[in-house]
Amino acid sequence: MLQLKDGVVLAGNKYTNAMLKALQIAFEGICDVVVTAGRDGKHGPESYHYQDRAIDARFWEISPDRRDSIAAAIRVLLPPYYDVVVEENHYHIEADAKKEQRYAGGMA
Ligand SMILES: [Zn+2]
Repeated sequence: MLQLKDGVVLAGNKYTNAMLKALQIAFEGICDVVVTAGRDGKHGPESYHYQDRAIDARFWEISPDRRDSIAAAIRVLLPPYYDVVVEENHYHIEADAKKEQRYAGGMA
């Protein structure tokens, strides 16, 4: 199951689709995916959230000792230019534009 926290704004693009799909596969059998931020929310001025290239998903229901391995599971489900960061209370996932360019250029 995929849930969106109230007020979450997600852009319809290939990045969002890929990140949601990876989250759902990685969380399968553990808990629902709850997206807590897309384009909305407070992020750094240069954040990929504002370019519709990043989403956050909460991990309250994942035990602390499993959070790194789930992060790695999300990571391998995505192309190499994505980053998955374990934040204080959520996963931050982003499609890095600079890495994507290198990847497209065959240099990744
Ligand atoms: Zn984030």
